[in-house]
Amino acid sequence: MTSECQAKSVVCYAEWAQGVPEEWGRSTSSMFPNSKLTTRAFPVVLLVVLAGLGQTATVGQAPQSKDPASQQRPPASPGPSPALEWPYRVFYLGYENGLKRDRITFPEVAGYQVLKGEFHIHTLYSDAQVTPEVRVYEAWRDGLDVLAITDHPEYLKTAFPDDRERAYERVKQLAAQLDLLLIHSVEVTTASTSSASLRPARNSDYTAHFITDEAPLSGDYPSVFNSVSEQQRGLLVWAHPHTDWVPEARELLKSGRLDGIEVKNTQVGNRLGTQFSLGTWFYPQAVDWCLKNNLAVFAVSDAHWPIDLLVDRSKGERRPMTLLLATRRDPQGVYEAIKQRRTLAYFNEMVWASEPWLKALAEAALHLRAVAAADRSEFAMRYLSVENRTSIPLEVQFSLDESDGSISFNAGLSSLPGTLSRTMKLGGDSTTLVPLTLRKTRDSNKPLEIQLTVTNFRSGVDRPLRLRKVAKLVD
Ligand SMILES: [Zn+2]
Repeated sequence: MTSECQAKSVVCYAEWAQGVPEEWGRSTSSMFPNSKLTTRAFPVVLLVVLAGLGQTATVGQAPQSKDPASQQRPPASPGPSPALEWPYRVFYLGYENGLKRDRITFPEVAGYQVLKGEFHIHTLYSDAQVTPEVRVYEAWRDGLDVLAITDHPEYLKTAFPDDRERAYERVKQLAAQLDLLLIHSVEVTTASTSSASLRPARNSDYTAHFITDEAPLSGDYPSVFNSVSEQQRGLLVWAHPHTDWVPEARELLKSGRLDGIEVKNTQVGNRLGTQFSLGTWFYPQAVDWCLKNNLAVFAVSDAHWPIDLLVDRSKGERRPMTLLLATRRDPQGVYEAIKQRRTLAYFNEMVWASEPWLKALAEAALHLRAVAAADRSEFAMRYLSVENRTSIPLEVQFSLDESDGSISFNAGLSSLPGTLSRTMKLGGDSTTLVPLTLRKTRDSNKPLEIQLTVTNFRSGVDRPLRLRKVAKLVD
């Protein structure tokens, strides 16, 4: 295409796009009504293509066979191809310096460590356009600890039909090398039942985790559920759950086989029963269902294309993720955290979960103390030092309980009356000094009683997290 591309022996997106079948184009526009297939997505698409080029697997519906550039490639020379090495040879927009991991850190929360996971995502092994390797690199780059690739088992006979070990086996070693916990998972559906009498009026899908064999997981859906729950001892999570309970999900709940529900699925956008609330489309009703029925909440991408087409990292956005409070950082720890419902859904700079877990996270994250700054004739100036020990930005409203006027937040000028309430945005891993004014008459040794409302921590649309903190005075 361009001389630069040719000189560097890489495939430019423009070249690759020429080979994209027409139906892919249609699929792009329907999945991404406001498609961001722009230069921002360019390096990832390139990464996908290069990763695909580096593989030798049998191609079923894979894009490589349609790629005109691949037909121009010289025959493979003996020995390892440079394209198989990591990082792949990518020359554009930042990747020349390698991938950098987003370090998302948390303190210990109620004695548990916080793991960050993706529990719903697809690859070339079903209906997505991305290799399993790219999913691993994306997950590692985005700061995740856990990755569950959830391809549809219905594609066993069509996508890479000779590769019976599927995406999980293909990237198990790579994930281990990057210290990423890879969970063996699939997405099963009620749509493919062979019996018309059992066919539900509206299908529903479930991600199944910790499975051991994909082969029996397509077909007649009651037997699929039985295989996941009984034979394979896997976990079932209701994916993109629509507006109301469907009979199959209710049946799973009743029989104790439903472990969680997705409350955020970025891929579905504003479709499939989502509601617009607090600036984004998601399933606030599913949060209520989880809390009422003691189920784990999940936030997932369900990405079928490179994750950067769903999440604008150039604006500082993070992909949705499920936070797990785990006793240990291994698959057993992940399994147990889900079984014990110790999950939180993190998306669009909000965390949704049951109140006890939100409170535990906020207690661990927020550290308050009051520090003296300077004395004035009538007022003692102090600062409320607020430390956020998580990488999640917090929006907090601070309210002072004392209404006798002896203490207030500064209104900007010391001559103006102060306020008893103030809202602050606290960046991730930051400390903020909030100015306070104390009248001389107030006992300066008396600790400050503060009511906090963390407005981006929610257990319901009308339920932001509230907690009390005492700030000790430090001179
Ligand atoms: Zn899916």
